[in-house]
Amino acid sequence: MKKIIIYIIIFMLLVFSIPFIFTNVKFEETSSENVIENIFDDSAYGTIRLFHNSDSTIEELNMNEYLYGVVSAEMPASYELEALKAQAIVARTYTIYKIKNGSKHQNADICDNSNCCQAWISKENRMARWDEAHRQEYWDKIVKSVNDTNRRYITYNGEPINAFFHSNSGGKTELAVNVWGGDLPYLKIVETSGEEAYSAYSSEVVLSKDELIVKMHENYSDFDIDFKENEPIKILEFNESSRVKKIKIGNKELSGVEARKVFGLRSSNFSVKMEGDNIKFSVIGYGHGVGLSQSGSDVLAKNGYDCDGIIKYYFKDIEIIE
Ligand SMILES: [Zn+2]
Repeated sequence: MKKIIIYIIIFMLLVFSIPFIFTNVKFEETSSENVIENIFDDSAYGTIRLFHNSDSTIEELNMNEYLYGVVSAEMPASYELEALKAQAIVARTYTIYKIKNGSKHQNADICDNSNCCQAWISKENRMARWDEAHRQEYWDKIVKSVNDTNRRYITYNGEPINAFFHSNSGGKTELAVNVWGGDLPYLKIVETSGEEAYSAYSSEVVLSKDELIVKMHENYSDFDIDFKENEPIKILEFNESSRVKKIKIGNKELSGVEARKVFGLRSSNFSVKMEGDNIKFSVIGYGHGVGLSQSGSDVLAKNGYDCDGIIKYYFKDIEIIE
């Protein structure tokens, strides 16, 4: 009998507490909505002033319209929708970060060059490059990836992160410190298997001895090399992410990142060997390797990860806020 009374009391307590639970949730939702309105209705994030490198004009677009052009320029539309959504959130975060921390461009927030800011392509140009059979489906998918993630971006300690991304990690991402010298606490080395199935995974650069000498001279005027010497070109050290840390070329020692730039390699994850009169670089992955891997995101999406799961895979201790 006592037990029944106790159960009734517990039941009554639960029934009475339900309205309070819901009231609290509702209250929290309302307050976070206010924060969103503040950041996106602020003209700094509501309208993007995009600098076009081709004709030096500035175009004003609202954030999502701008992001249709970024996502469709940066990631193949054939990728999984959740991968495209992750790309949309990362691109939105990257844009907010750039505006918040000062643009490189006068009178514009960001430009359309991927080597400087983020790639961007107009709808017209994008549609023309897709085959007709997929054109509308692909565009609708891009629009959906941006609209479904409307206003969502990534923060660390309450601040938008510097959301780096690249094409293909080659299986292992890179630390920011190995590329630019600074450490970002939300970026760690992350491994993804399955990226070898993508065309960006492996590539080669073959140079004649003369071509190598010319390229080295363009960057190092006192460069000298004796190809008769034992191992005139030799990788001396790899870093934690298996990329080249240091390589000796003749009388010079270069970092892997420098060698990538000098020889136009797709990444600093490479091996090198002499083949007759040629020097062959075999390269794994595409891009600096820092942050989100696009091929990796597609692999994760195929394995059931949603966009939040993909982002949390590549960026640690972060929040995705709305
Ligand atoms: Zn730029």
